[in-house]
Amino acid sequence: MICICGNRKQILVDLNIRLYGNQIDIQRFIMVHAVGSGLYGLTNPFDTPERKAFRETIEAFVETEIRPHAHEWDEAGHVPWELHEKLGALGVWGFGIDEKFGGLGFDDPFMRMDFAVAMSMCGAGGIPAALGGRGISLDPLQKLAHDDIRLRVLPEIISGRKGSSLGITEPGAGSDVANLKTTAERDGEDWILNGSKTFITGGMESDFFVIGARTGGPGLAGISLFFVESDTPGFTRTPLTKKMGWWASNQATLYFDDMRVPGKNLMGQENYGFIQIMQNFNTERLGLIGCALGMMKVCLEDSIAWAQERETFGKPLIKHQVIRHKIADMSAKIDAVQSNLWILCAQIEAGHMPVAEICKGKFHATKALEFCASEAMQILGGAGYLRGNRIENVYREVKVIAIGGGSEEIMKDLAVRQMGL
Ligand SMILES: Cc1cc2nc3c(=O)[nH]c(=O)nc-3n(C[C@H](O)[C@H](O)[C@H](O)COP(=O)(O)OP(=O)(O)OC[C@H]3O[C@@H](n4cnc5c(N)ncnc54)[C@H](O)[C@@H]3O)c2cc1C
Repeated sequence: MICICGNRKQILVDLNIRLYGNQIDIQRFIMVHAVGSGLYGLTNPFDTPERKAFRETIEAFVETEIRPHAHEWDEAGHVPWELHEKLGALGVWGFGIDEKFGGLGFDDPFMRMDFAVAMSMCGAGGIPAALGGRGISLDPLQKLAHDDIRLRVLPEIISGRKGSSLGITEPGAGSDVANLKTTAERDGEDWILNGSKTFITGGMESDFFVIGARTGGPGLAGISLFFVESDTPGFTRTPLTKKMGWWASNQATLYFDDMRVPGKNLMGQENYGFIQIMQNFNTERLGLIGCALGMMKVCLEDSIAWAQERETFGKPLIKHQVIRHKIADMSAKIDAVQSNLWILCAQIEAGHMPVAEICKGKFHATKALEFCASEAMQILGGAGYLRGNRIENVYREVKVIAIGGGSEEIMKDLAVRQMGL
């Protein structure tokens, strides 16, 4: 466990000592980074020694602790729980969370994104989904939950000892959040919840949930958020199986059948849930841009490696102009998504939440990812079609990034609305 009460520099030094001290094959790490820096020409003008140290720590963790097992865990449909705790010990879920709740006591959008990018390069998108699914419930818990709840559950979630999930989507309402049907009715001091949620990431293992439910009339002005625990009578769940991707993570359908929760489980102001959900989407969508970027980097990295090794018509693939142009196209799209992400992070760091630009950034990134996944698959040819390589995995997992957290269509609609049209 790192010391989360010290200053941020000390925290990051501690992270490095911990990793370099006993876990990392330094030689392998240097090789990986020497190759990586040659591929991605742009350097981050907002980088700092602390961010660099954090990024290198996470990249090293992914390279040694996750990547060698990624395929096996994806096929098994499960990530060992100890990995949650190992990552928790690095403080990766503490951004933006007060130290008294077990957080780092500071936020850094660049570090959050470096984490998302590095994790998405591990070889199976279900792994960051399984581990990071808790991330989208943390901001509402920190900002809106009753103090008793925050003090009790946030340290458990941030340390990786327990899981948490956000439950907004329902069988009858995904994009149309304002139309959700799960109800919460007052009964004395308590609330009684009825309804269901589906596609909830981590839902089969999480102990804690943030749930959107209708407390008022129809539409967006009648929704509130609730803190829910999985051992509450009336709570049941079933897994969603046979998915296209994200195998290493679990998604659940949750059922609330006359589920009674105490009055203090109402999070924030009654009937203000819609705006709270929308605000939370901003950080989720930013994270998904980071995921798309990491997956695009996988496409480029593995395409180059394959094109240098594979020979056709008497020369390496990389010497064929058509293939070289594919590499150039992928690389240019990575530069564009990367630059945009840095600017978005810089704006957030300066205290401005660029809602429309995040929406535009998300659909732009997922379209760019779709392109890269397709081109990488072409470059690998039949080899890319076989399970066990990163390109096959990325190709299957493009769509969850394009749909989850706000689909491309909804992102475009929101962006245009933010333009006042
Ligand atoms: C693997 C996975 C994990 C997920 N994890 C979570 C989670 O942890 N928590 C959670 O709450 N949800 C989660 N989701 C749900 C996800 O957020 C929704 O799938 C997403 O918001 C889209 O909702 P929907 O699937 O119901 O599609 P719908 O809303 O039914 O839309 C279907 C299609 O129609 C399009 N469409 C809808 N309305 C319009 C319109 N007005 N104009 C044009 N096109 C439109 C959409 O873009 C989409 O392409 C997850 C989903 C997946 C696949």
